[in-house]
Amino acid sequence: MGSVLVFAEHNGKEFKRSAFELLTAAQKSGHTVKALVVGPSADSIGVQLGAWGVSEVLACADESLKNYNPELYSQLVSDLLASEKPDYVLASASMLARDLFPRVGQKIGAGVASDCTELTFTGGAAQVRKPLYSGKCSAQVDFQNCAIKIILMRANQLPVGTAGSGQTTVKKIALTPVDLKTRIKEIVKGATEKLDLTEANIIVAGGRGMKGAEHFKLLDDLAAVLGATVGASRAVVDAGWVSHSMQVGQTGKTVAPTLYIACGISGAIQHLAGMSGSKVIVAINKDPDAPIFQKASYGLVGDVFEILPTLTAEFKKILQ
Ligand SMILES: Cc1cc2nc3c(=O)[nH]c(=O)nc-3n(C[C@H](O)[C@H](O)[C@H](O)COP(=O)(O)OP(=O)(O)OC[C@H]3O[C@@H](n4cnc5c(N)ncnc54)[C@H](O)[C@@H]3O)c2cc1C
Repeated sequence: MGSVLVFAEHNGKEFKRSAFELLTAAQKSGHTVKALVVGPSADSIGVQLGAWGVSEVLACADESLKNYNPELYSQLVSDLLASEKPDYVLASASMLARDLFPRVGQKIGAGVASDCTELTFTGGAAQVRKPLYSGKCSAQVDFQNCAIKIILMRANQLPVGTAGSGQTTVKKIALTPVDLKTRIKEIVKGATEKLDLTEANIIVAGGRGMKGAEHFKLLDDLAAVLGATVGASRAVVDAGWVSHSMQVGQTGKTVAPTLYIACGISGAIQHLAGMSGSKVIVAINKDPDAPIFQKASYGLVGDVFEILPTLTAEFKKILQ
């Protein structure tokens, strides 16, 4: 059998849930599983991955990797893949990986399948599917004429197994100097500390039916009880009620949480394009003919201003 290398993303202290999704899939591949961890804390947190069936962690802990720099990262990862020669690389279809891996693929002649939603291994070979045309159809992606195949998976599409008690070796990778054309001087984080929408397991999203920015507090309250992240339709982003980072849809983020609660959202095709991969969709809308109900697993016909406080109070009784 060959090897699968998982590009395990983290926030400096802990790995993202998507890393565990990829590691669980890699364990089922029948290949040897290795992981690549990049960033100043790479070797200290990399040791955790032994519990996820990783035989070896390649850790590059150089301080200059703290912030993502496309030139630096793509040189490092390309050099590593060229020497390691894994059969497959699994990474999350995060903003970082969607920028990084096409560069890497081009540098080393690897095949790249991006934004995939299905991944299985049969006899060591990966079967991959990805949605096309905003989810109107899906395509099977086959690799050809490439030794290294890179698969970028949307978050929340693969199950997470349970950690075992295995151990791993951590191989420290030195960074080769790169003549950088650009340098990231500073990153100013947004005000919110909440989990990014693309990683969230539960999303409470609001649309024009929320009637104003001040009423998003109702969504925040429900989200706080459920441990959810708040999203929005484009109509309310365009109205300036919330920031663009919260927009779900064709020109916003593509999400696939376990639970998506759409509040006062009509269900325009461009909104559905970003969230129809959610496992359970609950729609709250006062118009029984709103298109969102055609996609919803559960529909509540009524006023968000009555239903949301009731839901929050009832969930509080059960969950807190
Ligand atoms: C090229 C292009 C790209 C686009 N990209 C995106 C995108 O990425 N994401 C996106 O969301 N949209 C996108 N749109 C816009 C999209 O077409 C819709 O205009 C938008 O999604 C509508 O937002 P909405 O559902 O919040 O508002 P509306 O369509 O106005 O719907 C509001 C809903 O709230 C309900 N409502 C009103 N009051 C209440 C109440 N008190 N209680 C309960 N329900 C109530 C109404 O019945 C209605 O169904 C795009 C459009 C184009 C042309």
